[in-house]
Amino acid sequence: MKRIDKAYINGQFTELHGKQIFDLINPSNHEKIGEVILGDEIDTRNAIAAAKKAFKTFSKTNVVERIEILKNLKKAVEKREKELIDTMILEYGGTRQFCTIAYQNMVGAFDHMIETLQHFEFERKVGSALVEMTSLGVVGIITPWNSSNSFICNKFATAVAAGCTVVVKPSEMSALQTQLIIECFHEAALPEGVFNVVNGLGNVVGNEIVNHPDIAKISFTGSTQTGKMIAKGAVDSMKRVTLELGGKSPNIILDDADFEKAIPQAVFGAYMNSGQACIAPTRLLVPQSRLEEVNQLAKEAALQVVVGDPANENTNVGPMVSEKQYERVQHYIQVGLDENAELLVGGMGKPEGLENGNFVKATVFTNVRNDMRIAQKEIFGPVLSIISYQNDEDAIAIANDTLYGLAAYVTSSDENRALKVASRIEAGRVCINGFKHDPLAPFGGFKQSGIGREFGAFGLEEYLEPKSILV
Ligand code: NAD
Repeated sequence: MKRIDKAYINGQFTELHGKQIFDLINPSNHEKIGEVILGDEIDTRNAIAAAKKAFKTFSKTNVVERIEILKNLKKAVEKREKELIDTMILEYGGTRQFCTIAYQNMVGAFDHMIETLQHFEFERKVGSALVEMTSLGVVGIITPWNSSNSFICNKFATAVAAGCTVVVKPSEMSALQTQLIIECFHEAALPEGVFNVVNGLGNVVGNEIVNHPDIAKISFTGSTQTGKMIAKGAVDSMKRVTLELGGKSPNIILDDADFEKAIPQAVFGAYMNSGQACIAPTRLLVPQSRLEEVNQLAKEAALQVVVGDPANENTNVGPMVSEKQYERVQHYIQVGLDENAELLVGGMGKPEGLENGNFVKATVFTNVRNDMRIAQKEIFGPVLSIISYQNDEDAIAIANDTLYGLAAYVTSSDENRALKVASRIEAGRVCINGFKHDPLAPFGGFKQSGIGREFGAFGLEEYLEPKSILV
């Protein structure tokens, strides 16, 4: 059993002032696998002070030096590949398939920021002004549990590229994963105080970061509810915010698509990261005239989904991260039944033989109306809603009838037709014919899915302040 009892402050593993203990539980079998001592406000202030001091010199580094640091960070992460993947599976219950991709995203974050830096203009001529893109200051990074180290790597790589220093508050449920990434970054011999981490609760460590005057910006990934609280708190000291929040992404299958391929892909896609993915296409929009065929194909696909031990190569859906998350998903399945959506596959309770973990049955509802709660709320579990539409206009209207706007998907055999539909969807990312990711392209949400963008040059600009110099 592992015990995490230090913060990482000013380049050192540091004794904590906080005393509260939080148990780390394996979501696959409920065994205790470790414990973490949670930091408090004093630990957080110490971390912020270290980052503030380091900013003075780190913000003066040049692009060549920052690229060197990013290369060292990448090398250090590459050395611990197996442990990083295995610990994520153990602590979070992510499937091996997903955790391998998450690991590739960690490494990729450094590569893509290096590439971005190589083309980025920190000085620009705009009209008669010289515009200098200056480092913002100390960034507070607050992350969720659903791909913890990918978020930390991406946000920290961007901060390094911008010459910012950071204080990270990860989810308390990710302490083993966090410890590993700290060890990697420690190995990379960063200048002291550039990277600081305090494990702790949102309303303690997170709250201190949000309210502290020496934090210039918050980069947050998490729920819309928490994001709103953070934005409200940040405004008092005019902190900049990047908020990557929830989603309820539509997946429009146009009537000319190859249904035999598109429907199984849509079902497996909805279950990405065991359904605990902000970009999961959880609303499947299909032509009314083809609903029976879709139901048949979706049912066949969902019955093929392997729910079980996340360490197995062939598992598609692992356990929910916690019992609380399991209960939340059960609640929404019950809501779907109460609202008279038609249950096609899955349903309440645990799959047979998996009673000891937080496992949910791969579930599909059909004949769902878009005003039902299961179509509007982010469930964050393996629950797919099939909604039928009359024509393309109707499909677009349903897709946009949501508070969210993070991602969307369109499938058609005619790329131009799909493009026309895509351009009318209110979402930060629309993928045509499959699930795509380009880390140089901006990522972020319309509407209540967030504020600001991450990745590439758009992401980097969010860590910089433009200063116009007029002579
Ligand atoms: P959460 O909002 O509950 O917690 C996220 C982080 O915020 C945690 O570290 C938590 O401790 C902290 N926090 C909680 N209260 C706080 C407060 N008052 N002040 C400061 N920090 C506080 O989210 P979660 O349950 O950990 O993660 C799941 C959510 O994250 C889902 O809604 C999902 O859609 C979203 N998410 C979004 C993206 C994206 O890129 N848009 C990616 C992954 C997850």
